[in-house]
Amino acid sequence: MTVSGAWERTARGAMLLGSNGQLRPTIFAEMSALATATGAINLGQGFPDEDGPIEVLDAARRAITDGFNQYPPGLGYPVLREAIAAHQKRFYGMNPDPDREVLVTAGATEALAATILALVEEGDEVVTLEPFYDSYAAIIALSRGVHRTVALRAPDFQPDPDELRQVVGDRTRLILINNPHNPTGAVLSREFLELVVELAHRHDAIIVTDEVYEHLTFGTGHLPIATLPGAWERTVTISSGGKTFNTTGWKIGWLTAPNRLLEPILSVKQFLTYVNGAPFQPAIAVGLGLPDAFFTGIAAGLQRKRDVLSAGLTKAGFAVSRSSGSYFVVADAAPLGFTDAAALCRQLPELAGVVAVPISAFVSDENKGEYASLLRFAFCKHVDVLERASAQLADLRR
Ligand SMILES: *Cc1c(COP(=O)(O)O)cnc(C)c1O
Repeated sequence: MTVSGAWERTARGAMLLGSNGQLRPTIFAEMSALATATGAINLGQGFPDEDGPIEVLDAARRAITDGFNQYPPGLGYPVLREAIAAHQKRFYGMNPDPDREVLVTAGATEALAATILALVEEGDEVVTLEPFYDSYAAIIALSRGVHRTVALRAPDFQPDPDELRQVVGDRTRLILINNPHNPTGAVLSREFLELVVELAHRHDAIIVTDEVYEHLTFGTGHLPIATLPGAWERTVTISSGGKTFNTTGWKIGWLTAPNRLLEPILSVKQFLTYVNGAPFQPAIAVGLGLPDAFFTGIAAGLQRKRDVLSAGLTKAGFAVSRSSGSYFVVADAAPLGFTDAAALCRQLPELAGVVAVPISAFVSDENKGEYASLLRFAFCKHVDVLERASAQLADLRR
């Protein structure tokens, strides 16, 4: 499709469109379409292949019956804001005020967009890890910020503290981290998080943390950066119900932050969606109040899936990184003789009946070389699906 008018000649159009002026589908949409067209197993896009807890699904049905069908308040329904605050207290000892320091958003995606658009002025620097979730770069560009990155390198994808020290400076407005990390499965160390806080203080930067995989860590607990000494006062913590409750299509997310940061973000958010997902809000509140056993259960179940797929990929001949959290594992195809993961991903449905995405989709153009042979596989699928994918991938070597 062609975008009408002169929009494609504007700076924004040039940034978001392909070089031919056509709307560029994301690699995820392209790979999912390929999976649908070929019948391949879709381990590309990260969505679970089963529904979440019945209590949460029932609560949404009940909410429709009970009349939660009109615009919620701008901050979100009190029942959800209270549940978000209680959840952060129960798991992390945090104490956000549900009436002043909690904001419900249209997924983590809107929380990120509103935060960046509200806090970044033209020319301000935003530091992220690289590879990065694809919406970060787009929104930083829309706000005319300057995107600086700190590399996560295979095989363990832990950032180098010296690189962070070099990149963060007085021009830095935001340090945006993602922990646990998509696409690498890395979990950031306490020492690195402490350094982020120290540098944010030194350069008067704001910390933004995307923690949508907070309950999906394997073996290590989740440590929200906002709980470190001196962090809360300058941190926006973002999460979402999608990944925790297998409700990625509901788009109920939230952020917690001191009121002086929340207010400007709300002023942008109210003109993005205003509000969303009325009947899903009380349902996610029910989810956040589920007993501890639910949360330990989803992490244990996903860890088993990680193990099944990681073993299958290793057996197939990939060099597989260890995933400590999230839905994803990174596999290097170089040992199999494939040096271009993007090309391999387009062939993989035919070669093995499996879809994955290249890590280069999460990397800026100038750094794609370093990640050229790496693929991301999602393991948030039934174990028998992962076993079938593993068996099919084993044929790659022959
Ligand atoms: C899935 C995901 C999001 C988007 O969350 P929504 O609640 O669906 O908007 C944001 N950040 C990361 C790292 C993700 O993986």
